[in-house]
Amino acid sequence: MTSTTKYIFVTGGVTSSLGKGIIAASLAKLLQAQGYRVTIQKLDPYINVDPGTLNPYEHGECYVTEDGAETDLDLGHYERFLNVPTSQANNVTTGRIYQSVIQKERRGEFLGKTVQVVPHITDEIKHRVQLLGKSGDFDIVITEIGGTVGDIESLPYIEAVRQLRWDLGENNGIVIHLTLVPFLSAAGELKTKPTQHSVKTLMESGIQADVLVCRTEHNLPKDLRKKLALFCNVHEEAVIQSIDASTIYDVPNLMLEQGLDKVVLKKLALKSVTPDITRWNKFVNRHKNPKSEVTIGLIGKYVELQDSYKSILEAFIHAGAENEVKVKIESIHSEYINNDNAELKLKHLDGVLVAPGFGERGIEGKIDAVKYVREHNIPFLGICLGMQMAVIEYSRNVLGLKNANSTEMDANTSNPVIDLMESQKAVTDKGGTMRLGAWACELKKESTVHSIYKTDTIKERHRHRYEFNSNYKEQLENEGMVATGLNPDTGLVEIVEIPSHPWFIGVQYHPEYKSTVANPHPLFVAFVKAALNHKKN
Ligand code: GLN
Repeated sequence: MTSTTKYIFVTGGVTSSLGKGIIAASLAKLLQAQGYRVTIQKLDPYINVDPGTLNPYEHGECYVTEDGAETDLDLGHYERFLNVPTSQANNVTTGRIYQSVIQKERRGEFLGKTVQVVPHITDEIKHRVQLLGKSGDFDIVITEIGGTVGDIESLPYIEAVRQLRWDLGENNGIVIHLTLVPFLSAAGELKTKPTQHSVKTLMESGIQADVLVCRTEHNLPKDLRKKLALFCNVHEEAVIQSIDASTIYDVPNLMLEQGLDKVVLKKLALKSVTPDITRWNKFVNRHKNPKSEVTIGLIGKYVELQDSYKSILEAFIHAGAENEVKVKIESIHSEYINNDNAELKLKHLDGVLVAPGFGERGIEGKIDAVKYVREHNIPFLGICLGMQMAVIEYSRNVLGLKNANSTEMDANTSNPVIDLMESQKAVTDKGGTMRLGAWACELKKESTVHSIYKTDTIKERHRHRYEFNSNYKEQLENEGMVATGLNPDTGLVEIVEIPSHPWFIGVQYHPEYKSTVANPHPLFVAFVKAALNHKKN
């Protein structure tokens, strides 16, 4: 088989959390900056069909693509780095692989045969890896294999990579293995043994790594690189150090200094030129040299976990750089906010974002926080559940509908200002059944959002079951909370604003998913600017 698309597989060894996603995204950036059309795919070895049913304690944020796939948060990094949308095909789980093989079996596609891990599961994996390559849209596909080599559940993926490398032929598929080179302070030494073992484990599965990327807290000296090259069968130039960086946005430059792009292109027999990352570096410079600082409160119930609100945090980095401002995020747990302590917790903030979420825990704290910032003119951005809480707060405290609620929290409320969407009423399965993906929204002419987006129609990504109950629209608008964004087909309210407040916007969609380095999200940019103005006044 000859292939026009080249494949790069990224595996990990020694431990998890080495930052495979960031390395993959950084390499992709460098290749893209040399004119190659690149995409990145993540294979996740768990049995959930997608991460949509996992809570953030298990798996961090669930990222949503334009086409409505609920995916691993690494896809967010891919989009933020590359500014190219990903899709369902960019994230595949073991659950999805088995689901489609079993469906084929039921349809009789393997009639007469015993269905087995090899070849049926591995064939399905290979098919999914090549889907993106065969689309003709990409010169290079980078496939990141989740988990760590040696894990039981990763085995079929590693086997599929072994087969694919063979099928694709020389120079068409290479393996980058990411490992850890720990520093033992008692010995005062960097240790290569875990890497040697991990490379050996990979070899037991028939895969020789082409490139080693070694995560380290200290510079790897030349003799240590030599040693790794010798023991691991790789060229010395293919031992790449990945030293801890102060920001993930430094990693493309660190990889460039190490020549990762050059080594990779050489192994793929592709031409290498000097990547043009001027725009990227302009952003990094602005990010690292802010002229002022604002403090924004992030109110949610998973604030102790750094991955739960990943895209929101990154969107603030993009928006901060755009405004040349450092955005200091103060995470505030919604469960511990109430009317009595709101002032203490929120008074000093230049802006408050109430986060998305599901279920009852912490929602009264979110409502009390909205009340405080609304009454004290602090810039507010509510996302999804955050927008819904703003509507509930306004209904309770301005309209006087004391028991106003979402039917998600109180099914029997007599004032369901947030209610289950009509299209959700017959839905019983939990997986992949929310309102997902990009939907159009028409912006009202004389609104803050219109002046921010500078267009009449936007498309933003959704992930929810409940919505603004339009029966309350007139009442809310008469009392000063205005619907400024509507779905053109269904009339669903997607945006609310309070025109008498300096900056108060709630959105039913998730703007954070669309913010990238090249295109900071206008809503976040405007929110940070509003926070800056608030601070100045
Ligand atoms: N739980 C709410 C709903 O399903 C909000 C979801 C969210 O914040 N993503 O509508």
